[in-house]
Amino acid sequence: MATESTRISHAEALDFLLDAENNVHSFVDSSTSEQNVRTAGFEPVADLGTQAARFANFGSPEPVETRSCSTTTPPRRRIIQCDVFIAGSGPIGCTYAREILEKCDSDVLRPRNAVYMAEIGAQESPVVGAHLKNAVKYQKDIDAFVHVIQGALQPVSIPVSDTHQSTLGGNSWTPPINSKQNQLVICGQNPQQSREDNLGATAVTRAVGGMATHWTCACPTPHSEETTSSPIPRNELDSLLARARDFVKVDSTVFDKSIRHTTVKDILTTSFPNRNIRSIPLAVQPHSKAESGFVTWSGSNTVLGDIVNDPRFTIASEHRVTQLIVHPSFPGTVAGVLMRDLKTDRDVLVHARAYVIACGAVCTPQILYNSDIRPPALGRYLTEQSMAFCQIVLSKKTIQNIQNTQNPVWQALIAQHRNKHPLDPLPIPFRDLDPQVMIPYSSAFPWHAQIHRDAFSYGDVGPRSDPRVVVDLRFFGKGDILENNRVEFSNKAKPEERPEHTDVYGMPQATFHVVRTDEDRDRDQKMMNDMTTVANSLGGYLPGSEPQFMEPGLAMHITGTTRVGSDSKTSVANPCSKVWGFSNLWVGGNNVIPDSTASNPTLTSMAYALKGASDVIQCLQYEYQ
Ligand SMILES: Cc1cc2nc3c(=O)[nH]c(=O)nc-3n(C[C@H](O)[C@H](O)[C@H](O)COP(=O)(O)OP(=O)(O)OC[C@H]3O[C@@H](n4cnc5c(N)ncnc54)[C@H](O)[C@@H]3O)c2cc1C
Repeated sequence: MATESTRISHAEALDFLLDAENNVHSFVDSSTSEQNVRTAGFEPVADLGTQAARFANFGSPEPVETRSCSTTTPPRRRIIQCDVFIAGSGPIGCTYAREILEKCDSDVLRPRNAVYMAEIGAQESPVVGAHLKNAVKYQKDIDAFVHVIQGALQPVSIPVSDTHQSTLGGNSWTPPINSKQNQLVICGQNPQQSREDNLGATAVTRAVGGMATHWTCACPTPHSEETTSSPIPRNELDSLLARARDFVKVDSTVFDKSIRHTTVKDILTTSFPNRNIRSIPLAVQPHSKAESGFVTWSGSNTVLGDIVNDPRFTIASEHRVTQLIVHPSFPGTVAGVLMRDLKTDRDVLVHARAYVIACGAVCTPQILYNSDIRPPALGRYLTEQSMAFCQIVLSKKTIQNIQNTQNPVWQALIAQHRNKHPLDPLPIPFRDLDPQVMIPYSSAFPWHAQIHRDAFSYGDVGPRSDPRVVVDLRFFGKGDILENNRVEFSNKAKPEERPEHTDVYGMPQATFHVVRTDEDRDRDQKMMNDMTTVANSLGGYLPGSEPQFMEPGLAMHITGTTRVGSDSKTSVANPCSKVWGFSNLWVGGNNVIPDSTASNPTLTSMAYALKGASDVIQCLQYEYQ
């Protein structure tokens, strides 16, 4: 809850860790099963007021002294020991896990729990971290998936002015107006957030698999202008990107046989011959029964591959990573991680040789902040893409052209469809795959455009039209990099004090301060003009989905908040994603990207993660020699 205390001092935490380490050999059970791990925790032990007892009560509203503890009760501590601890089970955490388990010398890793992953969310499908859109229901009705995405996304920061209800009945409770101390603070509502510089649509997906349980799977290669700040040479980045494509199974041909895909692509190629129109490189595979018309979207399960069954790998779901514990005598060393098992509300301590925090662009800096690891660049240099959106209904001429096609394969498909469904007014088989076309970023048109049909948290067609004639246009614009564009977690007036309140998971509440420059606005306007030109080449606007800019943050492509770089003053981590000044701490996610990008960032973040994972392996192997 919003008032929960989530931080202990490093000295206090370290006492617990050392106390635990003293006992570690007698209590560690290296064959710990996931079930054991889930129930693992610290019990109140020994005398009242001991460090262990304080540890047990951390975060509890109940004062330590009121807990009853028996001096005769044997301590029931279980310290989780592993080689590599990974926070976050999204595609980036999974990239680290797979690369380390596949590439590290096996004699360097323990036979069980070598890689231990903690995830705050629950496992929502039988396949660990799978894309939920693979269910037949959503493949038959993509619009139904909009509600899955809406349900998954938890908003990060809501200004209290957005919570004012002018039509609320006079008898009903409402917080006092104009009082900062008495405002809603429960589900992302944030009295410190102003509307003007918020990223109001930014949200977090807390689930095993992260946002990749419902992402669109677009994996374009960034243009050279989108990697100018990268400390990784472009040729090295290109080979990392190629490996990342393999990990997440990127393919640009899966939709090639679709009538609608080919039609939209052909119209755009004819209308805009110099724009390099192409199929979106998507993390997707044809379904094993191709005639079903279904596809298999890649999720974090795809990234994990076979390691999900490796006994050396453990995922603990519904475990919050609360803070890293820094060794006071060796300030560049993480000595352990404090976790909270959310189901039992018990704290768990993990000891590893290397630590990777990959909890997304907001929660990664949040954990560092909560651990008192606050380099000057933490949360800063944040960029988020602008988004322009509309939906069109394909023109009559386009449908007539499909009807009159000279392509014998299409003729056969259409005839078959007409036979089966004589009442259908459209010459498009129900199983024809959606269009998936893009106009890549270019210097002349510095934005990324997707002309496709897919679910997001908006844009469902509903009964207004036949979804087969609707095409979505999503244009993503980059934003200038400003040091002051940031997410922060403290009360600005008293930065050394605990944050005034916490988010719904008990972590410090995030507040955004993000503005767009005049150059950004100018580019955005040009992007909007371009989108309308492209839209008009295809058909007319679907009523209600006319061209519009979307709420800032909706792209879910925040970068920079723990950026890599070559200078510790302007970046949080080195080119290998290792946090400056630390010997055993790495960060992963879009948050490491130091550039302003328009293209979808996940593939690039996976490339950075592959480089980071190699560095982790080197450190593990070096330590072993
Ligand atoms: C609808 C939608 C469509 C998208 N489409 C695309 C696309 O087409 N192409 C593209 O490149 N990107 C797309 N994205 C963005 C993409 O999903 C993200 O870039 C990607 O998932 C980031 O991976 P990650 O592992 O860094 O973070 P996440 O996927 O966010 O995973 C981070 C994990 O950390 C966990 N976590 C957070 N805090 C804690 C804590 N304290 N303790 C333990 N665990 C914690 C979270 O629960 C989460 O599971 C899309 C996003 C959305 C919402």
